[in-house]
Amino acid sequence: MSFDYDLFVIGGGSGGVRAARIAAGEYGAKVGLAEESRMGGTCVIRGCVPKKLMIFASQAGLMAEEMRGYGWSDAQAGAFDWEVFREKLDAELTRLELIYRAGLQRAGVEMHDQRAILADHHTVELADGTRKTARHILIATGGRPARIGIPGEELAMVSDDLFLMDKLPRRALLVGGGFIACEFATILAGLGVDTVQAYRGDAVLRGFDREARDLATLQLSQVGVDLRLGLTPTRLERQGEEVEASFDDGSSDRFDAVLFATGRDPYTRGLGLENTEVRLKPNGAIEVDDWSQTSVPSIFAVGDVTDRVNLTPVAIREGHSFVDTVFGGRARKVDHSIVASAVYLRPHELATVGLTEEEARARGPVDVYSTVFRPMRSMFAGSDAKVMMKLLVDPETDKVLGCHIFGPEAGEMIQLAAIPIGMGATKAQFDATIAVHPTAAEELVTMRNPSRRHERLTAPA
Ligand code: NDP
Repeated sequence: MSFDYDLFVIGGGSGGVRAARIAAGEYGAKVGLAEESRMGGTCVIRGCVPKKLMIFASQAGLMAEEMRGYGWSDAQAGAFDWEVFREKLDAELTRLELIYRAGLQRAGVEMHDQRAILADHHTVELADGTRKTARHILIATGGRPARIGIPGEELAMVSDDLFLMDKLPRRALLVGGGFIACEFATILAGLGVDTVQAYRGDAVLRGFDREARDLATLQLSQVGVDLRLGLTPTRLERQGEEVEASFDDGSSDRFDAVLFATGRDPYTRGLGLENTEVRLKPNGAIEVDDWSQTSVPSIFAVGDVTDRVNLTPVAIREGHSFVDTVFGGRARKVDHSIVASAVYLRPHELATVGLTEEEARARGPVDVYSTVFRPMRSMFAGSDAKVMMKLLVDPETDKVLGCHIFGPEAGEMIQLAAIPIGMGATKAQFDATIAVHPTAAEELVTMRNPSRRHERLTAPA
């Protein structure tokens, strides 16, 4: 049977673009790709990239404060001009989108700037009614922000909307305590917005190492976020120009803007999956095996739509591995067990790889090497901000099971720590590495004695 394409990719985000580009450019496959919005997807257009630029923009106040501590007595951040920033941001995102398009074009991928849905196991239907057949179909449609199902929630923004605001709100409510809520609370407070963050738990960033979470929770308050723990909104109502939020403790408050950062759902709705036998997980994500293959042999899926590890570099690796396996004759699986990540807070980021202390304890005995200290740079300027460096070590094998860093540029540090940890390095190998002095990261190779030892919680089976 002949097909219009060897591969048709639905979704022009990180995973889809990588798969399309490598299949066509390196392996000579005939590839079509459909994207209903801007090429580049969540990460480039409404996620990691604009977010990180906003993080940079938001740190002027902290930098000025630190410099005053170094004797620049008049250092001030001055006024932030959102319009100037937004114009530059728009231009930058357009530049990046064009780079993505050019890469696809160079590789010979046929781009369809419209929505595509599945018509059967080898056919997609484009929004203009055209049908295209393909030997393989890759679903890479990503995720969409989730709301929490309260009355009036249509009055709230989601993270996609933040980069499009005409002006900054004076007073904002952020709902949630995950990656997005914490990063945006940091950003908005840094840009001078009166920022309230309501989170239902007792420490933000559930799922991360508890000691690091406590430091992140404290830091949010220290940078001026009015962090209200154990609190969830139950209703939103418009009151003139403002939105009134009622909370589950009976309190209420008014804001110019409310933002839900309460997780993301896999984007499978309306995708024509009912025309196929592709199986879904209970949360609507596409079920795939280790090779990113769905229950239909000709249909594969990568990235957030599969809800494995929802991070850009993971989607890219999944897309690349799928193409290597199916088109390149090189079978490659993705190891999801050790994936580093960072939450871009200010002044200190939280970055992590491997097991948390809680996970390591549940697994077996663990030695915890942890140090919390005031780093040279900010301490000199009079700041109380604390850094944490932590290694979790299996006392039986000496293997480093996890590393958690709360500190300036922790994201940069964890990228490097992830290499030896992924290779199975031992604590002795960390210790054999001579320190780079004076740095904060040198603590990772100079912690001699465990700060605590946990015995096995339960007897081995
Ligand atoms: P997260 O899953 O990280 O956090 C969701 C937050 O919303 C949690 O604090 C959760 O609380 C809370 N929540 C969920 N449902 C409700 C509810 N019904 N009522 C009240 N609170 C609720 O999602 P995000 O939206 O922050 O981010 C989505 C994903 O995007 C992340 O998981 C990550 O994969 C990715 N991302 C990665 C970034 C990075 O790498 N730096 C940056 C931004 C996003 P609880 O914890 O109690 O369940």
